[in-house]
Amino acid sequence: MNGRRRLTYHGTAHGYKNVGCRCVACSEANRAAARDERHRRYARRLLVDGVWVAPVAAERHGRVTTYNAWGCRCEPCTGAASAERQRLARVRAERQRTARAAS
Ligand SMILES: [Zn+2]
Ligand SMILES: [Zn+2]
Repeated sequence: MNGRRRLTYHGTAHGYKNVGCRCVACSEANRAAARDERHRRYARRLLVDGVWVAPVAAERHGRVTTYNAWGCRCEPCTGAASAERQRLARVRAERQRTARAAS
């Protein structure tokens, strides 16, 4: 009779990540959770000589992910991020050229 299960995971990051639900409520919850996580990470950064640096192992610096996820602004991370920006700009320019050539 009572075969309807209540979908309790909706509106949680768990629904998005573990159940794989992409409904608006789950997506929004996942976004909010990611935002909170980032804020928590950002709050743990250290101010070194006026530069925000992530408290992570040395080998994790110089990566775009550390720049984005931690907001690390040390020289290697900033360098990696600007190199990535240039790479993306080149890819975009190349794509535009190819599109123009095709038309
Ligand atoms: Zn859902
Ligand atoms: Zn760094």
